[in-house]
Amino acid sequence: MPFTFDNSYARLPKRFYSNQLPTPVAAPSVVKINHPLATQIGVNADALNAAILAGNEMPEGAEPIATAYAGHQFGGWNPQLGDGRAILLGEVIGPDGVRRDIQLKGSGQTMFSRNGDGRATLGAVLREYLVSEAMAALGLPTTRALAVVTTGEQIMRDGYEPGAVLTRVAQSHIRVGTFQFYFARKDNEALQLLADHVIARHYPEAANADNPVRAMLDAIVVRQAELVARWMLVGFIHGVMNTDNSAISGETIDYGPCAFMDVFHPETVFSSIDRQGRYAWNNQPEMAHWNMSQLAQALGPVLGDDAETEAKAALALFSPAFSKAFYGGFAAKIGMDQDTAELRVLVTDLMEAMAQERVDFTLFFRHLTTGVKAGDFTDVKAMFTNPEQITAWFTRWDHTKANAALMQKVNPVFIPRNHRIEEVIKAANKGDLEPFERLHSVLSRPYEAQPENAEYENAPKPEEIVQATFCGT
Ligand code: AMP
Ligand code: MG
Repeated sequence: MPFTFDNSYARLPKRFYSNQLPTPVAAPSVVKINHPLATQIGVNADALNAAILAGNEMPEGAEPIATAYAGHQFGGWNPQLGDGRAILLGEVIGPDGVRRDIQLKGSGQTMFSRNGDGRATLGAVLREYLVSEAMAALGLPTTRALAVVTTGEQIMRDGYEPGAVLTRVAQSHIRVGTFQFYFARKDNEALQLLADHVIARHYPEAANADNPVRAMLDAIVVRQAELVARWMLVGFIHGVMNTDNSAISGETIDYGPCAFMDVFHPETVFSSIDRQGRYAWNNQPEMAHWNMSQLAQALGPVLGDDAETEAKAALALFSPAFSKAFYGGFAAKIGMDQDTAELRVLVTDLMEAMAQERVDFTLFFRHLTTGVKAGDFTDVKAMFTNPEQITAWFTRWDHTKANAALMQKVNPVFIPRNHRIEEVIKAANKGDLEPFERLHSVLSRPYEAQPENAEYENAPKPEEIVQATFCGT
């Protein structure tokens, strides 16, 4: 038996989901099973097989459902989204006591599919596998990837592409948009039930507060602020920070047209559908704050007698929590374990110098770290064609006080660079999974130098640069 299920979401009233079996696929075949993750979350990987992971066969104890949610997409309200191509099989409790969802993504149509085919391409699935597992290895809160199977079917996107199913693991799949779904329907009973469920599952300490829903909202706001700060510190751009892609648990969820930036520029956008730059690197805190204000509004009916005041006070926590995580984290990147006003200025000036010359974000901090160890900053200075500004910055940053061990802990050597992911997808579409395995292996130890994989540190050559990531989902 692969899973020992205990399905708390399926015990909520019927208006939280629809019972839904996956649609069987023609010829399921295993591409990857994440054995270390299986062990960590209490799944018996030996009992997993292609039929189960494709949804052709239901494992014992599964109660397959598609969950309901709404959301603001690029600021526009959509009262009904829901799992249009994902099915929650059930929940497992790991040896660490943590409850996690086991979800099949790309498993066929549901009542929420609208015009979609309910499927996912192998390319999008491998992208999510690589990036979410890289995020986990970097130490950021994220959904995980337990397995990939191909379906043996071709699906239509830009042309025909191989279909695949991802087995996704999350502390839950509850989103800001899940609360919005019931708020829009004036279903205050459901709002309270969902809040109780979230508190028990993710924020048990809130249960003891005078106003548990307010305490829950406070905790969610702070986690979102910290999450976005941590994305920015590794150069991550989510790409589709819609309220339906904002997880209540504080995990990164729904890897679509996301990317890690190569050259640093604060206004960087990759997503081909983000034409206004709404979800640009430096706009992410504002957008997360906006999502939190939508959550606060949705919680209004269960937030207490003076919901507006409660909401305002909760939202006021965002900015200080973000700044502390962002500037504290940035200070660590330059070897300082404090967050002072002076350091904030130093960090801001560094970002300006980097943006002006569009230096590679990851390589800059990599070279800065090795520079501190060697007491030689030739490599890092060589990244600037006009070294005046950075030379001036160097006179203000006291490298003798920089903590090299701290820098090594926070500055990744390897990130899932876009051109590498594209290379993996191209090969996989031709049946060659070797590049996928190799990149995955490199990214599993992102903070360690790996001389045999040094080429994976490199920025893309001009002809390798990926200009845009497509939803292609
Ligand atoms: P996303 O922006 O990818 O997180 O998805 C937004 C909404 O579209 C969600 O309700 C998804 O379930 C749905 N969706 C995305 N792709 C498909 C698809 N291929 N078939 C059905 N629904 C989809
Ligand atoms: Mg989504």
